[in-house]
This record gives sequence, structure tokens and C-alpha cells, in this order.
Amino acid sequence: MVKKVVGLVAIAALLVSVGLAGVAMAQEAEAPATPDTTEAAPVEVGNTVCPVCDTAITGTEKYTVVQNGKIYNLCSENCKESFLTDPDTYAALAEAQVAALQASQAAEETATTEATTEAKTEKVDLE
Ligand SMILES: [Zn+2]
Repeated sequence: MVKKVVGLVAIAALLVSVGLAGVAMAQEAEAPATPDTTEAAPVEVGNTVCPVCDTAITGTEKYTVVQNGKIYNLCSENCKESFLTDPDTYAALAEAQVAALQASQAAEETATTEATTEAKTEKVDLE
């Protein structure tokens, strides 16, 4: 009986170590590919608000500018021209907007996770 348990533990330990090795190998294989793809093609910044006039980009026609290997979205041809007169400033504005949006989304996700955890804790207390 004891021998059987020890055997199972040994198999479990073996499976865990094989699994970890697999994960490590997968990460090593993916790592070198990342810089190649970012250098080859411009990265979409994905800003949804025009950095020049601060309006939401809703038009179906896309006005974009490629600056320092990144694609910035603009709302109109006029704003595209304005962007090009001071690209560094407007690029920074667009990226700040995207960062703010991502931060608020991350905060929302954290709030949702906390709410779920609380609900589970309550259930355990009742039982
Ligand atoms: Zn605009």
C-alpha cells in the first residue's frame, strides 16, 4: 500500500518536471521571433481618439500616419497634416491616450476579479 503511494508520487513529480521543461522550451522558442516582427512592419498604436483635435475616430475612412515604426490613427486629412507638422508631440499624445485606456481596462478587470473572489468567499462561509 505504502509502495503504491510512493510510486504515484514519483510519477506525479516526473510529470510536473516534464511539464515545466516543456513550458521553458516553448518560451525559449518564442523569444527570438519577437524583435523580427516588430522591426519588419509598423506597429498599430490603436488610438481611438484623434491626438490632434481630441475627437473620437468614428469615420469609416482611415487616416493614418507612420511615425518611428508605429501607425497612428487620425480623424481627417486636416489632422493628418497637423500631425506631420509636430509628429513627436502628437505621437506622444496618442500613446498617452492608449496607455490611459489600457490602465482603465486593467483596473476594471481587477475590480471584476476581486468581486468574484469575494462572492466565492461568502459562499464558503455559508457552508
Ligand atoms: Zn482630428
